[in-house]
Amino acid sequence: MLIDSYDRVVDYLRVSVTERCNFRCQYCMPEKPFSWVPKENLLSFEELFLFMKIAIDEGVKKIRITGGEPLLREDLDKFIKMIYDYEPSIDLAMTTNAFLLKGAAQRLKDAGLRRINVSIDTLKPETAHRIAAKDVLKNVLAGVEEARRVGLKVKVNMVPMKNMNADEIVDVLEYCKERDMSIRFIEYMENQHASKDISGLKSDELLERLREHYEFTDDGFDGSSPSHYYTMKDGYRFGIIEPYADDFCKKCNRIRLTAEGNLIPCLYFDEALSIGKAIKAGDINAAAEVLREVVRTKPEKNRWGGEDGESSSRAFYETGG
Ligand code: SAM
Ligand code: SF4
Repeated sequence: MLIDSYDRVVDYLRVSVTERCNFRCQYCMPEKPFSWVPKENLLSFEELFLFMKIAIDEGVKKIRITGGEPLLREDLDKFIKMIYDYEPSIDLAMTTNAFLLKGAAQRLKDAGLRRINVSIDTLKPETAHRIAAKDVLKNVLAGVEEARRVGLKVKVNMVPMKNMNADEIVDVLEYCKERDMSIRFIEYMENQHASKDISGLKSDELLERLREHYEFTDDGFDGSSPSHYYTMKDGYRFGIIEPYADDFCKKCNRIRLTAEGNLIPCLYFDEALSIGKAIKAGDINAAAEVLREVVRTKPEKNRWGGEDGESSSRAFYETGG
């Protein structure tokens, strides 16, 4: 079992399989980065799988594939199947922008994927174009329908931003509710790669707007999920992720692996240790030691609400969110 120095059990690994993306979301990657990690520096699926086995053997119970856009990486379903065949009880999930999902959903489901989180920030084609710098909405919604059809459980992430999509929080929530998909509103997290024009809607403003339409109770946190949950009168539950409140850090159970093999103990901070050398040499003991060291050095909490005014230099497209 992996336990950090604040007695938190770390059993959730988020794996970014590529930092590349076919969208240019304003809050994440508004410009194509100056340089991508060269393809030869990426860990192959065989190398990534070797580390997945180590992580599972050390106590990881949930793996989420993310990116960049994970569906840009060829043979993703084969990688998922390798993990599933090694440990069928693993909770295998993926976060995707869904642009390429329609053609991939059945293969992913057959390979062992259980659940996906899809980013839907708007239901208006022109707003989707403004956010992603591309005409994306039709494909995204078609991807969601196909995922549901093949039996993948779908959750939706929305980042509400003023003067962008904040007027759609009720519409997107209703879209999810009608389809029995849960929604999590993610507070915009400032970072040095995002567009300077973004102004995120904070959770108190979001709740005030939702209260104009619904009655709901505050359920607080649930297990190790970073979401603060609320339940409506009809039983529908929605979540809000509030990094600036940092309450969820107390139960944080996750670490992150980048596509080139950097293991990151906290989304906010720059600290990371590489498993690349050990994995490329097939040195299981050395890679397991790096994993334990990263867990040991996991910080107590993020600093989004901190006093130093610095926003994180970590790129979401590198860490996978
Ligand atoms: N490309 C996939 C997608 O968009 O779902 C997976 C990677 S993306 C980095 C993972 C999540 O991070 C998405 O739900 C996205 O909305 C969220 N995200 C990216 N930048 C963010 C920011 N600055 N603040 C809050 N959430 C952010
Ligand atoms: Fe791509 Fe996801 Fe970042 Fe948008 S949030 S640019 S879809 S990685």
